[in-house]
Amino acid sequence: MRRSLVFLALLLAAAPASAQRLTDAVVPEHYTLWFAPDLAKETFRGRATIRAVVAERSNSITLHSAELQFGEVKITSGGRTQIARVTTNPQVETATFTVPQQLSEGPVTIEITYNGILNDKLRGFYLSEANGRKYAVSQMEATDARRAFPSFDEPAFKATFDISLTVDRGDVAISNGRVVSDTPGPEPGKHTVTFARTPKMSSYLVALLVGDFACREGSSDGIPIRICSTPDKRELTGFALEAATFVLKFYNDYFGVKYPFGKLDIIGVPDFAAGAMENAGAITFRERVLLADPKQSSIATRKTIAAVLSHEIAHQWFGDLVTMKWWDDIWLNEGFATWMESKAVAAWQPDWQVDIDAALDTQDALALDTTASTRPVRTKVDTPEEINEVFDSIAYEKTAAVLRMVEAYVGPESFRKGVASYIAKYGYRNAAGEDFWTEMARVTGRPIDRMIRSFVDQDGAPLLTIRQSCVNRSGEVAVGQSRLLAIPDRSSEPRTWTLPACLKTSDSKARCEVIDKPSQTVAVNGCDPVFANADGRGYYVSDYTPETVRVLTARPSLSRVERLSLTTDEWWMTLSARHDIGVFLDLATAFAGDDTPAILGALLTRIDYIANNIVDRNQQAQFQQWIRNRFGPVLTQLGLSGDPQAADYLQGRRAALMEIVGVTGGDVTVQRRARELADQYISNPASVGATLAPTVLQVAATGGDRALYERYRAKLPTLTSQPEEYYRYFNALAWFTDPALIQDTLAFSMTSAVRSQDTGTLLREMMRVPSARQATWAFIKDRWPALLEKLGVFQGIPRVVGSLGNLCTTADAADVRAFFAKHPEEAVERRIQQAIESIETCASVDAHQSAPLASWLAAR
Ligand SMILES: [Zn+2]
Repeated sequence: MRRSLVFLALLLAAAPASAQRLTDAVVPEHYTLWFAPDLAKETFRGRATIRAVVAERSNSITLHSAELQFGEVKITSGGRTQIARVTTNPQVETATFTVPQQLSEGPVTIEITYNGILNDKLRGFYLSEANGRKYAVSQMEATDARRAFPSFDEPAFKATFDISLTVDRGDVAISNGRVVSDTPGPEPGKHTVTFARTPKMSSYLVALLVGDFACREGSSDGIPIRICSTPDKRELTGFALEAATFVLKFYNDYFGVKYPFGKLDIIGVPDFAAGAMENAGAITFRERVLLADPKQSSIATRKTIAAVLSHEIAHQWFGDLVTMKWWDDIWLNEGFATWMESKAVAAWQPDWQVDIDAALDTQDALALDTTASTRPVRTKVDTPEEINEVFDSIAYEKTAAVLRMVEAYVGPESFRKGVASYIAKYGYRNAAGEDFWTEMARVTGRPIDRMIRSFVDQDGAPLLTIRQSCVNRSGEVAVGQSRLLAIPDRSSEPRTWTLPACLKTSDSKARCEVIDKPSQTVAVNGCDPVFANADGRGYYVSDYTPETVRVLTARPSLSRVERLSLTTDEWWMTLSARHDIGVFLDLATAFAGDDTPAILGALLTRIDYIANNIVDRNQQAQFQQWIRNRFGPVLTQLGLSGDPQAADYLQGRRAALMEIVGVTGGDVTVQRRARELADQYISNPASVGATLAPTVLQVAATGGDRALYERYRAKLPTLTSQPEEYYRYFNALAWFTDPALIQDTLAFSMTSAVRSQDTGTLLREMMRVPSARQATWAFIKDRWPALLEKLGVFQGIPRVVGSLGNLCTTADAADVRAFFAKHPEEAVERRIQQAIESIETCASVDAHQSAPLASWLAAR
């Protein structure tokens, strides 16, 4: 699954389920499933025939089921058919079928008729709506197949599936297999579509989609591919088809095992909780990360589409073909797909600087992993709440970063051979973390099992202290390792990781050493300071002396990823109070003219953080002056608007600079110009570059009046068939600073005009904007029950809770803590702790860096 650009999976109003692992007493082998959705009544009828093997004689069979109403249940074993009595246990989401005569060991067939509801909670078999009509679609991961059919709903119970759907004449039905028959009836006005039998797979990968989907067809390496959407958006599916065509072939070659699911459908779903979901042979997507206007889409949007496609298609092997035994190893699925996505995209579009996006992802992982409330990559989970909470940056971005580090250490081809061998060995089966790293170490002949294990089993992020000395013109680097915590006075147990540290000398040669002790010494050529994370591939933060940071900042041989790595490392030094903030601000001064948009973006985020949280009221004018003096001339040189067709990296730089100078720097000329550009864009979207457009709308909204606000709002209903443009206006609503407009946007977020999948995104955006922050937090507290109902505790709520980390005082931290003490939510418990720690981090930075900031400003 791909989280929604930082997201998650889902919930119903039902009481939280508790742990219920099934036993191995009955093991399924094959399901024959039939569904007849009634879109008007928002229900469905189902029939399931499950062939299984009974391992222990018994009078009953227990499997998973939630919100299903059972009709007749018949069980046949040993040549005898019996009618079963059904009891359900909603608390643990199971049903038990009991028969009078004991079932003997061996094959058993369970025939079940039942009814279910097409819910509005974006989980199981659920209802979606677009353009005034209804769709039935599905999202089973992690534990919601049981809402669509009675099932042994755990990843290790792999089985084959024969699926058929009876739907309205004129509607399309899509499932995991290709269509093998499509016949009218059995009822008037209906047709029944039967799909090819699937290979052995887990229940969470079943897909069901019904509605008037329109598809664009292609193929790759002999596999038919379709990109499907609601009919009004068919024009936007071309780019995804191009990307999928490349990626499928790329993986066939990479894995050395051909794509195993016969055909590949990729479907944009109007209401969708996650970013996308890797159902075998039928991948579902949130529309905004699948559909691109061929004329007016930014590289950022195209990159996201390509990355999410690459992620989900990688899962067809890593996840679908080979599946983790249990959810504690979800990192095997998600970390791998996250690592792999940039590999396929980089091969397809070498100019997209994908390496730097991967380095930015690593920072997301560090943000969580430097809190005391982080978790190990592999964490024990039992309940659906616990399972859903581990789909986080640790499973995704941290694991991906560790894999990237290990791949760089053993070399890409050696790593690929290990992966291919693992896939061949465990195909159509399940594997645990040990199976992966043992196979990788065997094939590569390197100790990477120790490395991976040290990151999977212990939590936290390594801090490498780099201290260099020089004797007789040769250098010696003392490398110390410890755990990095963002709040410096939080103590924790010592940690030692096994990791490759790649030291790059001033002659650009990198030397990789395995670091596995609390401190050790590495000899290097020459006496110039080394850069301790060559290519930014290591999952660690480097602690240099401030003098070394100054030398490295000025070194022209650092690559763009290394400059980003140096920037973010120094920011961690600022946050954890190891260096005075002036070291970072000097680095920001030196990098103000950098030509990589992502580096400007990284500076912007952090300068914004300083401006909003550390700079005192009486320092504000001087700090803004510094921003305008340093970044203003770079923007002037680039030009404020520029040619809408200009190269994307120029537009990306321009966008970052416009925000930093116009919003954080408070430059009224830039604000006025942004307003003019926004007016121009509203009447003629082609007049502003696609990459610059979102920033233009946001900067114009800062200080924008009601007239402008109303124009943004009026655009929304006209853009429902153009997701990218729609979300430019939608997200910009969060940026209006007038208190009355902030209240209007908050109220708007709860109306039916805003899809439940988008409410959390809007509130999160508002928590990022300083002028809206307190009002948004007050609103969240005030409307909490309604938010739980609309967003779902597995879905939008984690996003909203995470965004509370934007608050910054100890009083805020106490307020958040007190609120959740009164409104506990098991499904987001860890996220609440992490948000509180993030607030405390901010308060701590303010306390530690306030005086250093004052002296840095005084020296200007
Ligand atoms: Zn995924």
